[in-house]
Amino acid sequence: MAEQANPFESLQEQIDDASEYVDADADVLERLKRPERVLETNLSVEMDDGSVEVFKAFRSQFNGDRGPYKGGIRYHPGVNRDEVKALSGWMVYKCAVVGIPYGGGKGGIVIDPDDYSENELERITRSFAKELRPFIGVDRDVPAPDVNTGQREMNWIKDTYETLENTTAPGVITGKAIESGGSAGRVEATGRSTVITAREAFDYLGEEIDGASVAVQGYGNAGWIAAKLIDELGANVVAVSDSSGAIYRGDGFDPRDVKDHKNETGSVSGYHGADEELSNEDLLTLDVDLLVPAALENAIDGDLAKDVDADVIVEAANGPLTPEADDVLAESDTYVFPDILANAGGVTVSYFEWVQNRQRFYWSEERVNEELEGIITTAFDDLTDAYEENDLPNFRTAAYVVAIDRVLDSYEESGNWP
Ligand code: GLU
Repeated sequence: MAEQANPFESLQEQIDDASEYVDADADVLERLKRPERVLETNLSVEMDDGSVEVFKAFRSQFNGDRGPYKGGIRYHPGVNRDEVKALSGWMVYKCAVVGIPYGGGKGGIVIDPDDYSENELERITRSFAKELRPFIGVDRDVPAPDVNTGQREMNWIKDTYETLENTTAPGVITGKAIESGGSAGRVEATGRSTVITAREAFDYLGEEIDGASVAVQGYGNAGWIAAKLIDELGANVVAVSDSSGAIYRGDGFDPRDVKDHKNETGSVSGYHGADEELSNEDLLTLDVDLLVPAALENAIDGDLAKDVDADVIVEAANGPLTPEADDVLAESDTYVFPDILANAGGVTVSYFEWVQNRQRFYWSEERVNEELEGIITTAFDDLTDAYEENDLPNFRTAAYVVAIDRVLDSYEESGNWP
């Protein structure tokens, strides 16, 4: 197997690709290619059997020109410094492309959460929250869920922070349960923006989403909700996968039924309604109208891209395509709608949650979804306008051109501070 791309180098290459079309000096752009700071910490936590285990954890604050650092915290054995740096950079450009007033950050713990009890996970999470406390804050850095974290972990972090600060500060973290100050619509938001982007993309390309065949790689929060919502638009979800493997059904699945099966058995594999079981690689190279990578970075590299047969790719995961894959797909006229637009629904509804927390006034789910629809469709139009006006090679570069311009505008307005 080819060596995995380093996501931080991928991010820097994406910025370089866009730099050609941005009116700024090289030294100013250089600043946008690396994080302002990275916290690396080792958490010593007591296990249920009385032993002590040490977990490496990171928080990268990439750029705060447009507002507080913002971005999730993931729990995964593959977490490493460069991955977290890349993910924090992608957050900067994601927030800028949808025009919400945040910079970018990201954190992670090197851990396989399946190996630990709930009590152990609570102690590990609270230990990380204690380390994060001086770095985060409602106006400083606002974490959120990411891979393998959700409302439970966010509630623990909020509670640890509030206890240590002797205050109430629900806006210090987003993605909380409704009862802990979360927002309606937050859980569905990443899948929802993915589907809004797919709908707009098909419309832009003059294609019909109704009846389109769709493959979804990953059946976590983003992938399963995207499958459900695209099915509701009349598309045919013919293949889905998770880390256990992929399943295929020519007539299309009922995504809710597949989700029930996954809830019962722990994976999509073995689903009774499937025609065939496939590998993840088979799924990514299916001849479909739309492919939605909704798992991890580097799902499609330059080699695999040569076998991709989808007409359109909409990225629900962060960084699922390497820069080499982008080049191959541009050659083969596969349209890629990038992560920093398509999955921006999560952070956009996090923004709504933060606004509601600040106002202590909560919105209906209808209002949340309506505001989200407005933000994503406006960002889609900004991106396609930039694509056409500058005759750009692909939509990812268009998204970076829009986003970098916005970050540079706020940097320039701020003047110089040594
Ligand atoms: N982890 C999500 C992302 O990658 C959400 C971040 C947030 O809500 O701050 O966009």
